[in-house]
Amino acid sequence: MGVDFNFTEQENHMGRFDGRVAVVTGSARGIGFATAKRFAEEGAAVAIIDLDESAAVEAAGRLGEGVKSIGIGADVSDAASVDAAVARVVSELGGIHILVNNAGITRDNLLFKMTEQDWDMVMGVHLKGAFLMTKAAQKHFVEQKYGKIVNLSSVSALGNRGQANYSAAKMGVQGFTRTLGIELGPFGINANAIAPGFIATEMTDATAARLKMDVEEFRKLNAEANPVRRVGFPEDIAAAAAFLASDEASYITGQTLYVDGGAKLG
Ligand code: NAP
Repeated sequence: MGVDFNFTEQENHMGRFDGRVAVVTGSARGIGFATAKRFAEEGAAVAIIDLDESAAVEAAGRLGEGVKSIGIGADVSDAASVDAAVARVVSELGGIHILVNNAGITRDNLLFKMTEQDWDMVMGVHLKGAFLMTKAAQKHFVEQKYGKIVNLSSVSALGNRGQANYSAAKMGVQGFTRTLGIELGPFGINANAIAPGFIATEMTDATAARLKMDVEEFRKLNAEANPVRRVGFPEDIAAAAAFLASDEASYITGQTLYVDGGAKLG
């Protein structure tokens, strides 16, 4: 009689991503790490992919007690490196269900000073990187008729001084995402993008350094200019990524969700 409260450990902690394998690129730190951690907290096995294998392995070890994870060193802009990384994920974690294309770099400069290399490197990581990773993952997604893709765009897609390369790449990510939505929808695959505003990470700390500003002062100015009067944190993006990669978002595809405290409204 009555309710049986004798749940097992696992029943007690049912997560949205139990039994899923999530891959997050560029996740040894910043937004990527917070996203990887969020997936792990909600039950996923997680692969941390980053340029530096030792940083990736170290970050995988910080995902939490009992989390099934691996850290892999790979350059997302290199096809052989990507294919080897995805093959390792599938053999060591037993599959792949969620891909977050998060790896990113900036090479900011005003157009007249921007070099061809600055342009190629940014396109290589953001656009070619997302293309190569998605192509490698979709093979598995299509076979299993299930997959979730989340791509990192940016408010800079709408234009930002000193970022001709980065804003072109980030708007490119939005077009790429819409096309994935059209092509992969029939196979049970959702693809969406997140466009963060100012998020406090090493990437924006580097922007402060480029502008010769103190990091705290730079964050304070950005917070004051934002409608919600704060900067964003990696966890704000992780929460949106988890929603878009969850089955609750299965009727949402090809979209870009701006997670920016309303910054682009002004
Ligand atoms: P972050 O702290 O600089 O982290 C980016 C990570 O990506 C680093 O660990 C970096 O490794 C890795 N990475 C770079 N190139 C790579 C490659 N070719 N292959 C694999 N990994 C690579 O950046 P974040 O601020 O967390 O940004 C994450 C994503 O959000 C990026 O796509 C960024 O453009 C986007 N975003 C950020 C903001 C923001 O305000 N922070 C706003 C909008 C969009 P290394 O350290 O070894 O270079």
